[in-house]
Amino acid sequence: MADALPVIADVPKALKPPVDPATLKHKDLLDGDFWRKVPAYAAVDEATFLDHRWQSKHTITRADKLLAAIGGLVPQAFIDDVEAGFRRAPMAVRVSPYLLSLINWEDPYNDPLRIQFLPVGSRFLPDHPKLGLDSLGEQADAPTPGLTHRYPDKALFLVIDTCPVYCRFCTRSYAVGLDTEQVEKVQLKPKADRWEKAFAYIQSRPELEDIVISGGDSYNLRADWIAEIGTRLLNMPNIRRIRFASKGLAVMPQKVLTDDAWFQALADVNALGRKMGKEVAFHTHFNHANEITAYSKRALDRMHGEGITVRNQSVLLRGVNDTNESMGLLIKRIGHINAHPYYVYVHDLVKGGEDMRTTLQTALDLEKYVRGSTAGFNTPTFVVDAPGGGGKRNAHSYEAYDRKTGVSVYTAPSVKPGKSFLYFDPIDQLDADAQARWADPAEQEKMLAEALALPPR
Ligand SMILES: *Cc1c(COP(=O)(O)O)cnc(C)c1O
Ligand code: SF4
Repeated sequence: MADALPVIADVPKALKPPVDPATLKHKDLLDGDFWRKVPAYAAVDEATFLDHRWQSKHTITRADKLLAAIGGLVPQAFIDDVEAGFRRAPMAVRVSPYLLSLINWEDPYNDPLRIQFLPVGSRFLPDHPKLGLDSLGEQADAPTPGLTHRYPDKALFLVIDTCPVYCRFCTRSYAVGLDTEQVEKVQLKPKADRWEKAFAYIQSRPELEDIVISGGDSYNLRADWIAEIGTRLLNMPNIRRIRFASKGLAVMPQKVLTDDAWFQALADVNALGRKMGKEVAFHTHFNHANEITAYSKRALDRMHGEGITVRNQSVLLRGVNDTNESMGLLIKRIGHINAHPYYVYVHDLVKGGEDMRTTLQTALDLEKYVRGSTAGFNTPTFVVDAPGGGGKRNAHSYEAYDRKTGVSVYTAPSVKPGKSFLYFDPIDQLDADAQARWADPAEQEKMLAEALALPPR
């Protein structure tokens, strides 16, 4: 506990009006045994709920199991809708008890966590005609399976193909998770020989300084794998920075709190990096303030205590964080628990995810609102990961943006010089004229040509 503050009689006169307490909401973190209101967890005590093995074991992957867990909280019609969603979803479904307990079951359709993890049949929109399954071209930039070397000095190492939960908006739905009824996946199993090829490539390229270890999700790496991957990379003279990327903190803080072997492996890699004068960071992925509870703060405190730098990458999602209030609160709360809001990604073109995408304009407006509300280092850059392999571009840096057809144009001089990359607003957000044009393949090509012919700003 902090010491009591001294009482100072002479408080300087305020120049600003007292703040509305609502603007301090980011500090109110949900605590206590909130999970007990879910019938299946009514008798679960805190020690059990905090046990990461219990969380994994009780993670839900089938509609009938979901019904059994939340039975009585929602009407049957909603469960039927989820069942239809499970059948249509290109992503496998996986929801932890922690997440399930944070969903407002009185209004599941509009709940920001439900939207991210549980598909409902009635809300699907047709995919955008310009969508390809690996929309970022990660496989095209891969010298060996699971290693994407797109940028000059950094590479993305997809070490594993599973996650503690599956997000409906996942960019890597081409590889992550089990095959679903809709998609047969590329295999990225954690195979020793695949890792060896990646290590050999990374070591052979002096320009590579920075490796993102992702997947899938680092949460699902065994403790000895964290140690092996971390140590191997740090020992390469060319490597200066590594980061472990994980959705885990946001969906199962229990692992940081109770999987001591895993946590120690991460803390040891971090300590080794410091000793060697190299940077180790952990990148997490909170998308809504409701995902950040007192348990998340305890997990972050544990990481902070070990000196682990935590940064956050969010995805901009319709109905989740696409308003000034929801995005503003999210950013403040992430900063409050000592993670740095690093990026907000404009939603990639992903199969089955059209209902969650927003227009580019939404991202531009949110960025303008957020900037200035908190520390600059806690203010995320809003980025478009340009389809076709252009990489991340500052959303504001478009060369042209036809708001009517929803086509924006980006260039990436240091990544793919001389090329233009297009991003597309979701069609249902455009006016009736533009929607009609998108329904006609000949018009589609014309709209692309029109956007490319616009004068650069
Ligand atoms: C996102 C990404 C990186 C890391 O980029 P930063 O902007 O440094 O966070 C590296 N490689 C690939 C292929 C990526 O998609
Ligand atoms: S945790 Fe990351 S990689 Fe896994 S499903 Fe979610 S977005 Fe995809």
